[in-house]
Amino acid sequence: MEKNKKSAGGAVGFGMQKSKGQHLLKNPMILNEIINKSGIQPTDTILEIGPGTGNLTMLLLEKSQKVIAIELDPRMVAHLTKRIGLSEHQHKLQLIQGDVLKQKLPFFNLCVANIPYQISSPIVFKLLSHRPIFRAAILLIQREFAMRLIAKPGSELYCRLSVNVQLLSKVEHIMKVGKNNFVPPPKVESSVVRIEPLHQLPNINYNEWDSLLRICFGRKNKTLGALFKQKNIVDIIYNNYIKFKNSTIKPMSEENTFNNIENTLFKDDNNIEIEQDDNKEEENEENEEEINNTKDEKAKFKTFIIDILTKNNYINQRASKMTITNFLELLNLFNNNGIHFN
Ligand code: SAH
Repeated sequence: MEKNKKSAGGAVGFGMQKSKGQHLLKNPMILNEIINKSGIQPTDTILEIGPGTGNLTMLLLEKSQKVIAIELDPRMVAHLTKRIGLSEHQHKLQLIQGDVLKQKLPFFNLCVANIPYQISSPIVFKLLSHRPIFRAAILLIQREFAMRLIAKPGSELYCRLSVNVQLLSKVEHIMKVGKNNFVPPPKVESSVVRIEPLHQLPNINYNEWDSLLRICFGRKNKTLGALFKQKNIVDIIYNNYIKFKNSTIKPMSEENTFNNIENTLFKDDNNIEIEQDDNKEEENEENEEEINNTKDEKAKFKTFIIDILTKNNYINQRASKMTITNFLELLNLFNNNGIHFN
């Protein structure tokens, strides 16, 4: 058995590259279970990201009308081309060599894939910003990433990623997959999730939305009151306030919204720490009076923010326990008071 596992990578004639997240799913039982749980219709056009040597691809082809597979590694592409050449389903496969993150995705209505784990987050947001909307994505991903996707307020793993993904989709955990089902086995455990994009999305500016979440989740167990008193945060929103004071912010067109989702929510994830207060006074040539005026303004502005939070019962709330509805309401509240995040 052990011997088999070792040689299995070699059996394709080349070594697997960790940097490309190459862990081939080998267990036929798991492969079949994924297929069964994907709810594939014979008329489906399936997108597969990272087909590798084609273990999943061959099964997808049997059940669907068409599979479009995007693979980065030319060695994998060559291997799969050869493998598919012997199959009756050859005509159903469109194999694209390239980086999935750099492609405009083709039309598909279902995505089924064992994706490269290191780019899970950008892949998920690329899928969720894709239009026309597809039925679902069934993805094999790292267990911990899966748990963060489905985490609810109050759970230890609840983070910016959970909020953003659940804002745009319904996510379900489908099954656990142990590391020994792969060749070579990854260091981490895996899970299959089903992500179903929502048809109706809130009409918000996703840049602002994500900036607000970054602030709130920068210290997710701190109260909003404590967070929004921090000098660096007051500074940022104060500057925006001045900038936006005399301008109107237009709602985004639908197309912009989706570009915006893809570009904004692209980056991984939740460990973005807010910089600590830096007490050094900036060197400048402004006269003292001007500096003092700004200081006064900022102090007033801080009170203004704290008042908004207090009046609306957000002052003692913590991101770790807030729902998506809470965050939407909070953004709306700030915006209605001329406060913007960018
Ligand atoms: N689906 C196969 C292989 C999974 S391993 C199986 O289950 O056996 C992940 C695959 O994604 C590898 O083949 C790797 O080369 C490919 N890959 C890595 N980065 C990629 C990227 N940016 N775009 C497309 N494919 C990528």
